[in-house]
Amino acid sequence: MLPYYYSLNEYLLEHFGRKMYKLALNGGMTCPNRDGLIDTRGCIFCSQGGSGDFAGTAPSITEQINQGKALLSGKYRGDEFIAYFQAYTNTYAPVDYLRRIFMEAVNNESVRILSIATRPDCLSDEVCALLCELNMIKPVWIELGLQTTNENSIQYIRRGYDNSTFTEAVKRLRSMHCCDHIIAHMIVGLPKETPEDMLATADFIADNRIDGIKIQLLHVLKGTDLASDYNRGLFSTLSLDRYIDIIEDIIRTIPPGMVVHRITGDGPKNLLIAPMWSADKKNVLNTMNRRFKEDNIRQGLFRK
Ligand code: SF4
Repeated sequence: MLPYYYSLNEYLLEHFGRKMYKLALNGGMTCPNRDGLIDTRGCIFCSQGGSGDFAGTAPSITEQINQGKALLSGKYRGDEFIAYFQAYTNTYAPVDYLRRIFMEAVNNESVRILSIATRPDCLSDEVCALLCELNMIKPVWIELGLQTTNENSIQYIRRGYDNSTFTEAVKRLRSMHCCDHIIAHMIVGLPKETPEDMLATADFIADNRIDGIKIQLLHVLKGTDLASDYNRGLFSTLSLDRYIDIIEDIIRTIPPGMVVHRITGDGPKNLLIAPMWSADKKNVLNTMNRRFKEDNIRQGLFRK
């Protein structure tokens, strides 16, 4: 299949000589949107699992790594992985604790890359200094949950920090050499957002010269306040065709060298309320690839 955009697999092949899978880990943290520092309700879309519903469940990081490797053993025979701290806010804990769990991961012989999902307002100087240390051992990726830059949406989703906090965090991570790669998460399909709003978020990510983007379809998950609004008919979710239209526009907007880590996402099926088409990941990817070919999205730009 031709690469129609700079995919994560292509980036990994270029920089690490191989495709790698992620081991989703749970470092046992919470987040300031849940423990009351900013809010107690969490972001409006976030499941009880802290957006880490696929993360490991074993008590130690090493056991979670082994658990993840066993789960992938049917489809991946490689011996190198990305240790991905996914659940909740993974820099929201005392630095001694962070040092212990991150060192355990980074020193594991199966781990080639350490990827840490967090909030830009949870990157103190102490935490950044630890990240720098880790980044000297193995490449560190930092994933920042931006989701949107639209002011109304920021309030609606209860994100709890402003856009300038994101920009400042990115500057700090870069100037202190805390990581090799910064990834911004954005959500497509937030209630009341227009395609122009979503493109403005992509533009903001590009303007901040972010290395990689994760584009996530808005999922309505059981037990969230977003689900209550959805069930009351306050908004509807995107159709697959509409979603692909917006993804194509985003791909056209971002710089060609920005790594696209994700263009969809499959919420946990036991929690998913809408859109149900997103549960059929194979069909979503096939439809996207067909449309990308038809619409000639960046065809050939990244062919070697
Ligand atoms: S999305 Fe992240 S910051 Fe928001 S409530 Fe969930 S874990 Fe906390």
